[in-house]
Amino acid sequence: MLGKMMREPLLVSSLIAHAASYHADTEIVSVQTTGGVEKTTWSQVECNARRLSSALAKLGVRQGDRCATIAWNNRRHLEIYFGVSGAGMVCHTINPRLSFEALTYIVNHAEDRVLFVDRTFLPIVAKLRPALNTVKHVILMGPRETEAQGMVDDLLFYDEVVTTGDQDSQWPNFDEDLPSSLCYTSGTTGHPKGVLYSHRSTMLHALAGNHPDGLAISARDTVMPVVPMFHVNAWGVPYIAASQGAKLVLPGPNLDGASLAALIDAEEVSLALGVPTIWMGLLAALRARGTKPKSLKRTVVGGSALPPSMFAAFRDEFGVELIHAWGMTETSPLGTLNQPLARHAHLDPQSQSDLRLGQGRPPYGVQLRLVDNLGTVLPCDGKTQGSLQIKGHWIVDTYFGATTSALTADGWFDTGDVATIDANGYMIIRDRAKDIIKSGGEWISSVEVENIAIGHPAIANAAAIGVPHPKWDERPVLVAVKKEGATVSDADVLAFFKEKVPDWQIPDKVVFVDALPLSGTGKVLKNKLRESYKDLLTVDRAESA
Ligand code: ADP
Repeated sequence: MLGKMMREPLLVSSLIAHAASYHADTEIVSVQTTGGVEKTTWSQVECNARRLSSALAKLGVRQGDRCATIAWNNRRHLEIYFGVSGAGMVCHTINPRLSFEALTYIVNHAEDRVLFVDRTFLPIVAKLRPALNTVKHVILMGPRETEAQGMVDDLLFYDEVVTTGDQDSQWPNFDEDLPSSLCYTSGTTGHPKGVLYSHRSTMLHALAGNHPDGLAISARDTVMPVVPMFHVNAWGVPYIAASQGAKLVLPGPNLDGASLAALIDAEEVSLALGVPTIWMGLLAALRARGTKPKSLKRTVVGGSALPPSMFAAFRDEFGVELIHAWGMTETSPLGTLNQPLARHAHLDPQSQSDLRLGQGRPPYGVQLRLVDNLGTVLPCDGKTQGSLQIKGHWIVDTYFGATTSALTADGWFDTGDVATIDANGYMIIRDRAKDIIKSGGEWISSVEVENIAIGHPAIANAAAIGVPHPKWDERPVLVAVKKEGATVSDADVLAFFKEKVPDWQIPDKVVFVDALPLSGTGKVLKNKLRESYKDLLTVDRAESA
């Protein structure tokens, strides 16, 4: 043998062990489900996590067993993240906003043995309980409570369960390829599909995703993940924060703009991460109160298309840098982040914000490519649109319980997004493949139509959908929500498109609604809209004929 380096398995427990060793008294701030703010430390979280893993073993939960959570972002959820995965069990985070049917399907499909539930969601679990065939223990995330006790048979209480765990238990060592967590896609079409992350993929995602052009979280940061811990591991932030010993602020159930703005000030949050709809609420609250969030330096936004005005709004009104990111459940989720290159330093503010509106470039560890319908690889010229495919250390291969790989024959994952990539690797999502509007053989980007509509001073929100048309196959229809108190006609809105896009890309109709239907993760349910308006253009023609 020429020599050898140590081989330490990449395990999620090593992150929290590091935080407890070197950042023991760094604060974890948590808004409690039942009200009030609780403060603890990395050291206490680690201790509780270890005790939880030992307590679960005493309950008969074994390595590889799935332990589900239906919970807000809070301290107990953080302990479950590390306690369950650290013990070699699988932390299965579930989106509480899903339908009863989807929730039941997911718990049964994952064969969850334990279900941790926040007080808010106990009534849902009480209803579903008889249909959850594999669940042995339901654990309420809080202290013992008489009212709750009557709602679910044999309900256990988290705070009591933890005390049954051994305080001196040690994190076990095992193979880094074993699973650490499980998250289901929202299943906007068909059944939800589970993505089973491994310790190795989670660790590499956390390490590579936090490079200086990535999330760049440091020990000096106070980080507030507003993105839910039930959605793709809160973009890896709990793991990254532990790896750096950053202070964490977990906002619990209060996700309205005013509550978030107050929490940012009170805890001096320097970095916050969330989806565009949440940031719209924060911007409105900041404008209403008229003061800047002094401590806030950066926000990361992703999960759905970024409204074009958002980058400049954060930068120019509040002095906050917005970093746009793209990813999906299948990609852990970081696929691209938008940080400029040295060559962009001289750009004027307008060109800077134009550049930053795209989804950005891949960090080390993932590769992107575009292909056409036949799978031929397309050029990265910033113009050619194609199906976006990805491969890398933290990208799905086979869905949970599936027997065949989800990858192409040459090992890439097709994201279902249509994108362009330029010579520097900057990727722009043009649409989701299923949302793109196909009019007379040409493609119309629903995102582009929506961005123009949202730019109209009287429009608060809008979705563009393809509606079946006898001559053109599909034509764009705009479903729009007016700003409060605004009066605007459909003709006004359509006139606003003139000169901004070629005439054939202007929607055929505008439908005003009070609100757009949203998925559990805040995305517009375009399939619902397509279903509701599927006859809009055909029936009209019949009437007018
Ligand atoms: P689901 O696929 O079930 O909606 P995901 O959270 O996995 O749930 O969604 C991933 C999809 O969300 C991506 O494929 C993409 O279409 C969209 N998305 C994510 N981030 C962005 C972004 N920054 N800009 C535009 N679309 C985005």
